[in-house]
Amino acid sequence: MKTGVKRALVLELFDKQGGRCCYCDRPMVILPRGRDQNRPDAATLEHLITGRRKGWTKRHNMAAACRECNNMRGSAMDWCTFKTYRMGEFWEFISGCKDL
Ligand SMILES: [Zn+2]
Repeated sequence: MKTGVKRALVLELFDKQGGRCCYCDRPMVILPRGRDQNRPDAATLEHLITGRRKGWTKRHNMAAACRECNNMRGSAMDWCTFKTYRMGEFWEFISGCKDL
C-alpha cells in the first residue's frame, strides 16, 4: 500500500473512531508527516488480523490504533485478546469475543 493511501485511510478510520484508539480507547493524535512519529499517542494503521492471509489488507481488517498499542501487540496476540488485555476486561472477553 502506498504511503498516501495509507495516510488517507488512517484519517478516515481516525474520524470513524472519534479519534480514539481501537484498543485502549484513549484519544490519539494525527501528526504531520515526519514529525514526532514515535509519540505513543500517534495514530497508526493497524491490521486486525495479522499475517498474510487472503484479504488481510482489506478495509474491514483495518483500524486506527495508537502507536503504543500497535507496538505492544506485535503479532503475538489476536486483536480481540489484545483489546481485552488493554481494556482490562478479561471476563467480558470470554463471554463476548468467542462469537467473533
Ligand atoms: Zn491504544
